[in-house]
Amino acid sequence: MDNGVLLHGLNSAQRDAVTSDVSVLQLLAPPGSGKTKTLTARVAYLVARKQLRPWNIIVCTFTVKAAKEMKERIRGFVGDELAKQLKLGTFHSIALRYLKQYGHHIGLDKDFGIADTNDSKAIIKRIIKQNDLSIEAGQARARISAQKSKGIDSEQFLKTVKSVEQHDFAQVYLGYEQALKASNLLDYDDLLLRCSFLLRTHTQCVSNVEALLIDEFQDTNNVQYDLMSLFAQHRNVITIVGDPDQSIYGFRNAEIKNLSRMKSQWPDTLTINLEENYRSSGAILHAAQHIIEQDESRPPKKLQATHSLGMRPVLRKLPSAEAEAGWLVSEIQRIRALTGNLLRLSDFAVLLRSAALSRAIESAMGKAGVPYRMVGGNRFYDRIEVKLLVDYLRVIHQTGDNEALERIVNMPARRVGPETVRALREQAVSEGTSVWQVVLDSVQCRRRPITKLTEPTRKGLAIFVDIVLTGQKKAYDEGTARASLVDLVNFLLKKLLFQDWLKKKYPDDHEVRWQNVEELIAQASDASDPERLQAMLDQNALPEIDGLEQRTASSLGDTLSLFLSNISLASSSEAKAEEEGENVEQVTISTIHAAKGLEWPVVFIPACYDGSIPHSRAEDNDEERRLLYVGMTRAQASLYLSCPIKNTRREETALSTFLLQPGVSAFFEEHGPTVEPSAVAGLAVTLRRDCPALKVVEEAKSSIKRDEDNYWPLNGEFPPEELAKWDHSKDSATVPAAVFSTASITLQ
Ligand code: ATP
Ligand code: MG
Repeated sequence: MDNGVLLHGLNSAQRDAVTSDVSVLQLLAPPGSGKTKTLTARVAYLVARKQLRPWNIIVCTFTVKAAKEMKERIRGFVGDELAKQLKLGTFHSIALRYLKQYGHHIGLDKDFGIADTNDSKAIIKRIIKQNDLSIEAGQARARISAQKSKGIDSEQFLKTVKSVEQHDFAQVYLGYEQALKASNLLDYDDLLLRCSFLLRTHTQCVSNVEALLIDEFQDTNNVQYDLMSLFAQHRNVITIVGDPDQSIYGFRNAEIKNLSRMKSQWPDTLTINLEENYRSSGAILHAAQHIIEQDESRPPKKLQATHSLGMRPVLRKLPSAEAEAGWLVSEIQRIRALTGNLLRLSDFAVLLRSAALSRAIESAMGKAGVPYRMVGGNRFYDRIEVKLLVDYLRVIHQTGDNEALERIVNMPARRVGPETVRALREQAVSEGTSVWQVVLDSVQCRRRPITKLTEPTRKGLAIFVDIVLTGQKKAYDEGTARASLVDLVNFLLKKLLFQDWLKKKYPDDHEVRWQNVEELIAQASDASDPERLQAMLDQNALPEIDGLEQRTASSLGDTLSLFLSNISLASSSEAKAEEEGENVEQVTISTIHAAKGLEWPVVFIPACYDGSIPHSRAEDNDEERRLLYVGMTRAQASLYLSCPIKNTRREETALSTFLLQPGVSAFFEEHGPTVEPSAVAGLAVTLRRDCPALKVVEEAKSSIKRDEDNYWPLNGEFPPEELAKWDHSKDSATVPAAVFSTASITLQ
């Protein structure tokens, strides 16, 4: 492949970055300037031109969605075979890969499970309750995570305790660590920390790494920085891209200082800047820049729009949160109608400062029958019926998984009340064994339980034990004739009389729930096929695991292990969005945090009031401003900010201070019509990304009637010089809005 194809559609600064031969490269540039695009092309360049072997290249993205998109694109350049071999994923998925492969060097059992956010919270809640402490579970979790990311474990923390409050927290931290250990679980922080420990003590694990590339570097924390240094320790070939103005994870201990730290660690670091924005219309960009420039400590930066001015962003006040939501939904419907439904629902996004704001919006969408997907909402694997079955699989896979076991030992109900569960757990702790062992021994009368079990309870436990043991036999006994994962799930459904249970317990929506079960069966069936299991792992950006094929072919136990790891990873918020159907016609509702790096033709940011953004609990106002900036710069052609005069608690609100600064209002349309037909026409064809540009134009032509007095530019032909600017590659067809917005077009 020649450089022409690789470098097609890149400007000269981007090309320089793609082909640079320096060892350490920083590409720092504002939103929409093509950082991710450039990074992607660089990976392809290293493979196709520099003949680096893809399995020796590590690429870290911030979200699972970004990883997927990047892999897709690289596939376009270098083909499926090579793209598949890259180690491309989030820091967590790459760490998981190394731990599964080499974890035995640091004494890790290869069957360790992953505690997702919900598991962690549940454990913490339980410890707080047991010890009768007055700590909020969510906060305790964030604090534990903060300590871990500083490399301070619970015992070290205990030694530094000075106040009663700290002592209480230390107790939670200690209990939490013990619970994870007892269940052979690692949480998300542990994945990074253990991997870091592994690579520090066993440097040979990364001796083959030839290049490391990282997107969204401004949001890395110290642990991730260490991992970066460790991945690169043998050759020091690193490319990072980032934007200090978009650093929005300070609250999760991201360190913006990592940029300068990198420069002092590698003094020869070359920095390249990009100055053109290819994403947003001029008007959106100006408004966003005006907001970020309120931060006076920030060095001024050049950023030029490449698109025409387009429509001014809209800023609206509505009487209530309900009215705001209703207005927003009707705008979506109106724009679609105006564009002859050329814009799809998936071209719209509603971005929120906090997930809790989604309720009003969801209900308005529900009322209007507008399908939507929640990024980070109640997701597939969090749905009770799915979680329950997955928990059974977890216990079958690893009886030491106390967390999962306690959730299912009485599900469906079999007379094992919370008191019994507590007693069993206490006995397990005091005897230094797993809850499963205590249950098993009690049932088999090998041990006297602390509380005497009633006969019905003992029977209930015996039923539970029988299910798990039979499941294990299916999964692990060499003698059993090749049971598949689907067989195992079906076995559970039958044993648990699951469908009847659902009907009884959820008379209103058991059918929907059963559909979820069927979906899980479909996934289990996918997992039974090595190729499709790999595709699933890919989807969650879990890099290929060596020797997968032999292992899946030979053992259901290994399939189960991979299947469960995959589920834990997929539970990370943004992965859910994927699985619920990226291509389905749905509006996206997401937090701004989870929308990082992404773009949509039309973006709404509701609830722009003080207390929401900036958030009342946020410590750093500048970070809140950057968050608004990140949200606004996701929009390509149309941006709506809004504020209810009264919030959902019926309290009067004040417009966000960021929008009340002198001069800001000049950038917004506060009263006039929200959409002008000509601009909408431009909008409709500007940013359709998933079909070739020309096809979009053809569609647009047929759905937009010419005004008698105003013709299509150049008599129905598009100017060749404009055509030349278009990127015809499959997934990024952009047609300059100017072509349309300069012509006056009436719509049918
Ligand atoms: P963010 O900071 O938000 O992550 P980014 O700098 O990573 O943004 P990209 O997502 O890579 O920006 O690019 C933004 C949009 O601009 C994409 O749709 C991309 O295809 C397009 N783009 C980037 N560079 C060019 C270019 N040289 N010509 C045309 N379009 C481009
Ligand atoms: Mg990006």
